[in-house]
Amino acid sequence: MFEDTIVSQATPVGHSAIAIIRISGKMAFEYAKRITRTKKNFKHLRPKHLPIYINRKRKIDSGIFIPFFSPRSYDGENIIEISCHGNPFIIGAIIDEFLKYGARIAKPGEYTKRAFLNNKLDLNQAESVGLLIQSKSLEAAEKQTQNLDGNLSLGLNTIRNEVVSALALLEYEFDVSEIKFLKKKDLFKIKNNIKNCEKRLSKIIGSFNFGSAYSKGLRFVFVGKANVGKSTLINTLLNYDRIITNNKPGTTRDVITVETIFKGVPVTLIDTAGINRTNDPVELQGIEKTKEEISRSDVIFSLFTFDAQPVDFIVDKHTINIYNKNDLAPYRGNKKDVISISALSGDGIDTLKQKINKSIKTVTKSSEPRIITTIRQKDSLTRALKAIKSASTHFKQNPAQLELIASDLRSSLYQFDITSGKTITNEVLESVFSSFCVGK
Ligand code: GDP
Repeated sequence: MFEDTIVSQATPVGHSAIAIIRISGKMAFEYAKRITRTKKNFKHLRPKHLPIYINRKRKIDSGIFIPFFSPRSYDGENIIEISCHGNPFIIGAIIDEFLKYGARIAKPGEYTKRAFLNNKLDLNQAESVGLLIQSKSLEAAEKQTQNLDGNLSLGLNTIRNEVVSALALLEYEFDVSEIKFLKKKDLFKIKNNIKNCEKRLSKIIGSFNFGSAYSKGLRFVFVGKANVGKSTLINTLLNYDRIITNNKPGTTRDVITVETIFKGVPVTLIDTAGINRTNDPVELQGIEKTKEEISRSDVIFSLFTFDAQPVDFIVDKHTINIYNKNDLAPYRGNKKDVISISALSGDGIDTLKQKINKSIKTVTKSSEPRIITTIRQKDSLTRALKAIKSASTHFKQNPAQLELIASDLRSSLYQFDITSGKTITNEVLESVFSSFCVGK
């Protein structure tokens, strides 16, 4: 158990019906007894309704105390969760009282970090706790819940175990080098297993775009000359007037972003400055920003009308070409991929929405049920895959280079362990948990 006893509010700050304070560590139960002036010991998961005193005499509230005994708690320590009235003065006074007893304020993510250090979670699961809280849609939360339940860890461990078995056989062969232990058919089997690992790991790594779309969301940028109807179209897609539209060119000089959800995927819609030939320095700046947004986006909506051509600097990305204002003049071009709409009347919007859903599917395509969502996971797993691939190529040499294969497999195991956090530096540990909120 950790020497430090840590405390913090687990619920958002402000006035609320109920708030939860969490205290964890060696002295958690002792301090809870002191603040309630209780002599009786707590029992695991037996809630108690108790008065709360400060300075040993002032009763400021009463609350429900739920004790979790180590190791059967979230972080593996002794924990008490106190549900009291959600008043910032009460909460402040309770936390101050615990600080007086000797507790300290928990750092961001410290409970989850303790859970990791106490082997309650691996690093992939710990990361999914933070991502689950920050999820911007129900579907995104569901994916992180699956990872928190160990779905990803299980998939990776199965591959890792396969690599361990192959390596064990090779190392046995080196130990008994006088007699040839591995027969041709054994080697063939190892080779196939390694190939299989390569395929499975590739698929998991391939889920990154999908995973990050769900956790971070996609960026849709609306581009076109001034007055083509970009803001109007965004309002129509959102079904409400979020952005002011105007028939004076250059109304949207800066980038405006709106968050929404399409098919469970969080999406940021980005309205950009109209691209015109202009010398206005403010508008020129807006145009530079538009170019930046294009480079950061996942899907580009390129708008044009009967009297305004599409802008010509769109990079080779997923683009939806939209002819707007068809109520004023129908589309007369012959490009098949152009969707003709009227953002004002709503004509063609259903077709456009179908196209958007298709684009989301293309961008987020993955048949892999286990998804990775962080760059950290992607980085170390890509290294593991590189090592496994290298092992596969050494099999192709005649005779197969067993020493080199074993060395590659060892490297891949090291990377698997970095992913799960079995091998970890302090720096990585700090960076993973620093993005958490206090109280988790
Ligand atoms: P932006 O500069 O590209 O964002 O263009 P806005 O959305 O501000 O639209 C400029 C003007 O065009 C406004 O007066 C809109 O009402 C008008 N407008 C936008 N879409 C349509 C449309 O489909 N049909 C017609 N007739 N007018 C439209």
